[in-house]
Amino acid sequence: MTAADRPTILVVDDERINRCVLADLFQNEYRVLLAKDGPTALRRAVDEKISLILLDASMPEMDGYEVLRRLTADERTRNIGVIFVTGQIEDEDEERGLLLGAVDYITKPIRPLLVRARVRNHLKLVHQREELERLSLQDALTGISNRRSFDHAFEQACRHIERSGVPFGLAMIDVDHFKYYNDRYGHGAGDEALRKVAHVLAAAARRPYDLVARYGGEEFVLLLSSGDNFIGMLEKIRAEVALLGIVHEASEVGHLTVSCGGVVASVESARKPADLLAQADNALYQVKKNGRNAVLVHDTSK
Ligand SMILES: [Mg+2]
Repeated sequence: MTAADRPTILVVDDERINRCVLADLFQNEYRVLLAKDGPTALRRAVDEKISLILLDASMPEMDGYEVLRRLTADERTRNIGVIFVTGQIEDEDEERGLLLGAVDYITKPIRPLLVRARVRNHLKLVHQREELERLSLQDALTGISNRRSFDHAFEQACRHIERSGVPFGLAMIDVDHFKYYNDRYGHGAGDEALRKVAHVLAAAARRPYDLVARYGGEEFVLLLSSGDNFIGMLEKIRAEVALLGIVHEASEVGHLTVSCGGVVASVESARKPADLLAQADNALYQVKKNGRNAVLVHDTSK
């Protein structure tokens, strides 16, 4: 695990000595950030990728309960686990913290071994949840993004495009005669072919807001954040899939091919993602109708 992969713990306490004790306890194992009051803690929780917050319940001005309430109210921070750290040992306080959504409760003076064990347990749960989240966004067969992930990322990418002011490209890419391929060569071979096609597509999506996903059975979607030479990019993909040389006797050309239908879209059209998908889909339909293994792009950016 590199330093950058280490989980980040945010220690929030108004007393410097407490922050130091907890920082010392964890800094060898985790990345530790410190905050001396509620507002600083809330800011850092938004700005940084925090796995767990150790939160002092008793602080002047904004106490830990209020910090927790605000963390829970904000969708950007509501999933961060919070362990309350407090000098109070009344059951009522414990109850109040847990009811507000704290995952655990630790009383001062802290017992280092106990605190370390509890933090480790919670981080293990955080890691498992993140892993599940990651898997839920991935297409299990090809390893690229799945449709759910694409739909979410597509909206984000559209917002980025609106800011960037650069026309962009969106394409639907479909494996030709895939049903016949599966029937003739079996589902194992079909899966392998889809993996290879996905690999070709993934290599084309290189910039931060480029996206590629398996959209359905043998259908993929590709978004390139610049529409420059989009037809050329799709032609290259089409040619590379053909060059894989996957034998497909039922195909007109004897090997596996793809059809690509796309749109080069103006920045304004990024406001209507669903329309763009429909336009790309329409172009793909025309390619299929005209005999497949080809590229058709509507340029609506001009
Ligand atoms: Mg305090």
